[in-house]
Amino acid sequence: MNPSELLQLLKPFPVEVLKVYPKSFSSEKGLTRGLVRTAKGKKLVVLGEKDLVLRDPFRGEIYHQASTLKICDLSPENTSCLMHHFPFTKPRSLRQEKMTIGTGDRLGVATPGHIRAVRKFKVRPVLAQQSVRENTQTGRSFEEVVRDAAWGVFQENYQEGYGADGDHLKSLQEIENALEAGVSMITLDLSEKLNPEGFRAPQEELDRQFKKEIDPGDAEVLFHLFLEKEFRFKGSHGEFSIHFDADRLKRTILLFHKAIDFTEEVYQFLLSRFGHHRLVDFEISVDETPFPTTPETHLFFIIALSQRGIRIDALAPRFVGQFEKAIDYCGNLEDFRKQFYQHVLIAQHNEDYKISIHSGSDKFSAFPIMGELAEGRLHLKTAGTSWLEAVRLIASVSPSLYREMHRWALAKFAEASRLYHVTADLARIPRLDDLQDAELSALLDKDDSRQLLHITYGFLLNAKNEHGKDLFREGIYEILSRYEEDYWSLLEKHIGRHLESLSVEKISTVETKNGRSSIWYR
Ligand code: ZN
Repeated sequence: MNPSELLQLLKPFPVEVLKVYPKSFSSEKGLTRGLVRTAKGKKLVVLGEKDLVLRDPFRGEIYHQASTLKICDLSPENTSCLMHHFPFTKPRSLRQEKMTIGTGDRLGVATPGHIRAVRKFKVRPVLAQQSVRENTQTGRSFEEVVRDAAWGVFQENYQEGYGADGDHLKSLQEIENALEAGVSMITLDLSEKLNPEGFRAPQEELDRQFKKEIDPGDAEVLFHLFLEKEFRFKGSHGEFSIHFDADRLKRTILLFHKAIDFTEEVYQFLLSRFGHHRLVDFEISVDETPFPTTPETHLFFIIALSQRGIRIDALAPRFVGQFEKAIDYCGNLEDFRKQFYQHVLIAQHNEDYKISIHSGSDKFSAFPIMGELAEGRLHLKTAGTSWLEAVRLIASVSPSLYREMHRWALAKFAEASRLYHVTADLARIPRLDDLQDAELSALLDKDDSRQLLHITYGFLLNAKNEHGKDLFREGIYEILSRYEEDYWSLLEKHIGRHLESLSVEKISTVETKNGRSSIWYR
C-alpha cells in the first residue's frame, strides 16, 4: 500500500492523521497494522473487522465505521506487545556479526535515519546505546531508550536485527537496570576499578602495595602465566612480541587486580541470569582512563580474564593520541596505526572478540586505518554526532532558536567541561552577531563550536526559565518532528560517511512492491 491508499483507508475515522509511515504497514490475518503521525504524535493503528480488532492485544482507543480502527500509544505495554508480534523489533545479540556500529540516539528520534544509513552497508547497528551519564543529562531511562529504538525499527520495517547497549555501566545495580529494560549488550566500565597509582609507584611503594593487596595464590598463578614467556603475534601487516619482566608484571597486576575481580563478579551475575547461553553481549571499556591502554596491559588483562573462565565480546581500549568527542583524531597516525594493529591481533588471537572504538564519531583520518587493520571486525560507537546533526538542522531551519541555544551553551561550557574532556577554545568561535543566518550551520563544521554544542546537550535540554518552563526542549523536538525527513537525511549521509571511511562493504538494496526490501550482497 502506498501512503495515499493508507490515508484513504483512515479517512472515515474522526482522527486527524498527518502522515503515514508506509514501510511499517503490514497485513496479517485480516488486520492491518502500521505507524502514523497524528497531532498528538506517533501512534500505532490497527485496522480491520470489529471482532478482530477487539481481540487484538494492543491497547488503544477504538473507532467503529464500516471497519474498526484502534489508535494506540507507543506505551511500555504496547512496546512489549510490539516486540512479541514483531520479534525483529526486539534487541538481540550481535555477537555473530562482524562489523557493528553503535548509533546512540540521545533524543530518541534518530533511529529511522540511522537505519537508512546502515541499510546500505554490510553492518549491523546498535541503535539503542546510552550511558548512565547520557540518561542523566537527557532525563531518559534505559527503558525509554530501548522503546524509542524499537518503534523506529518498526517504522522502517528493519528486520535485519539490532542491538541495545547499556553503555558505561559501573555497578551491578546499573547493569541490572539496563537488563530489566531489555538491552542486549552490556558495556562494563572499569575505569574506577583500575589502580594507575600502583602502576606508577616508586619501587618501595610498589612492593608494599603488592604485598598488601595481592593474594599470594593469585600472584603465583599470574607469575606462572606471564614471567619468562614471550607472546608472539603474527598477522598480515607484520609481527611483534610481548614479554613481561617481574617489575612490569607486578605493576600490571596492581593496575588490574580489582578490575579483574569485579569483572568476574559481573560475569558470574550474567551467568546466573542467563546460564551459559550468553544472551547478552559483554563489552569491557577502559577507554576513560588517564593513560592509553598499551598492547602489554591489554594482553595481560585478557589472559587474566580467560584464566578465570571469563569470555568477552568486545574490548574498548584507550588508544594513543586523543579521541575527543565529535572531532577528528588528534595525534600521530603512525603511532595509532602501530598500536591499533597490535590491539587487533591480540583480540584475534584470544577468542576473537571485537575491538570497540569509543568516542568513535568523526574520526575520519583514523577510519581508513581501522577499516584496513581490523579486517571488517570492529565495533564503532558514535552518539554525540547525531545530536550535532540535529543542531545543524536547527541552525538551518530555525536560526533564532539556534542563536539562543548557542548563547546558552557558551554560558554553560565551563560547567559542562567537567563532564567531558574537550579542548575547545571559545575564543576561536566566531561571534554570533557577526554571522548571517545562512552562515550558522557552518559552525557545525568547526571543531571548537562542535565541541561547545556537543558537551552542553544536557544543559540545553534541561534549561528552564524563571517560571520553571523548558527553554529549548520543546522547540528542539518540535523542529525535529516537523523536519524529521530532513533530520533522517542528514543522519543517513553523516553515518554513511563514517561507514564509507571505514571501508565497510556496500549492499545493493532492491525495494519490492510492499516496501519490504530484499538484499543481495555485492
Ligand atoms: Zn567510552
